[in-house]
Amino acid sequence: MTAHSLIDDIRAAAPNLRGRLLENQSLADLTWFRVGGPAQVLFSPADEEDLATFLAALEPSVPVTVIGLGSNLIVRDGGIPGVTIRLGGKAFGSVEIDGEMIRAGTAVPDMRLAKTAAEAGLDGLAFFRGIPGSVGGALRMNAGAHGGETTDVLVEARGIDRKGEVHSFTHAEMGFRYRHSSAPENVIFTSATFRGRPGDREEIEAEMERVTAAREAAQPIRERTGGSTFKNPEGGKAWQLIDAAGCRGLVRGGAQVSEMHCNFLINRGGATAADIEGLGEEVRRRVRETSGVELHWEIKRIGVETA
Ligand SMILES: Cc1cc2nc3c(=O)[nH]c(=O)nc-3n(C[C@H](O)[C@H](O)[C@H](O)COP(=O)(O)OP(=O)(O)OC[C@H]3O[C@@H](n4cnc5c(N)ncnc54)[C@H](O)[C@@H]3O)c2cc1C
Repeated sequence: MTAHSLIDDIRAAAPNLRGRLLENQSLADLTWFRVGGPAQVLFSPADEEDLATFLAALEPSVPVTVIGLGSNLIVRDGGIPGVTIRLGGKAFGSVEIDGEMIRAGTAVPDMRLAKTAAEAGLDGLAFFRGIPGSVGGALRMNAGAHGGETTDVLVEARGIDRKGEVHSFTHAEMGFRYRHSSAPENVIFTSATFRGRPGDREEIEAEMERVTAAREAAQPIRERTGGSTFKNPEGGKAWQLIDAAGCRGLVRGGAQVSEMHCNFLINRGGATAADIEGLGEEVRRRVRETSGVELHWEIKRIGVETA
């Protein structure tokens, strides 16, 4: 007798799924760091209804992980057990303008959100121009830069829970804090509504160009990286503590603390997830020793370590 695989069980429980279901799928190419093991099952739903059907039918004990554009993730080398969900641009990639409101699917890249708002003469979202994630990741992380944050412009988000039920979350219910939302962990956001302020299109576009130039000058944006590794501690800057601890340029296997911006870790080529995470832990240890400050990861580490 052969054991049933998870994907067979899913197909049997939800025979009418329209989305793409893949087994043992590499995730390295779906993250900026380009490291990590496979997803046991990767599901890309055809639309919101398909996602709800899938979640309702899925055995409650199967773990579910959602990923966006993988710009804030270390997928560990042992991969992700259970189901990993990635929302595709076809079903979750529309942006619509209605007066001052902007409604976007959560697969929309932040950069496109910024551009569409600017084209409609709506100000307040230019900061999204420099963030390489998706709207889904921005909601979970309260992404922000250059003095703006998701919390400043978000009106409402919509998402589906682990049982397949659809919920709306008001701004207050999103529970935004610095790089954090306290909306229930098991919710997969599917769309969001933002409010812009009427502004001058050319001025907004000029602001976006300033944002782009500032990043090019200060961040290793062409590297395999996960952006800021650690959250800034209260009243301080993580990069300054990392620099003072002598970690700029520190190497572990194929991973390195960026010379350009030392709160960024980079995959120099051939790094494993364990190299990158281990280097991050080494940085935390050295910062704790030199300054007594405990740094907290901003990058999400998901999946299992290899033995
Ligand atoms: C070069 C570079 C520069 C960066 N600069 C900034 C910056 O200036 N400011 C900033 O805030 N961040 C920055 N980041 C980090 C990153 O871009 C943000 O955290 C972004 O919001 C992550 O979005 P993502 O789609 O890539 O999410 P992922 O990295 O794929 O996932 C991040 C988290 O969001 C969750 N998530 C993703 N989609 C959904 C969804 N649909 N529903 C529920 N949860 C979801 C995931 O489960 C995970 O917990 C930078 C990263 C890089 C590589």
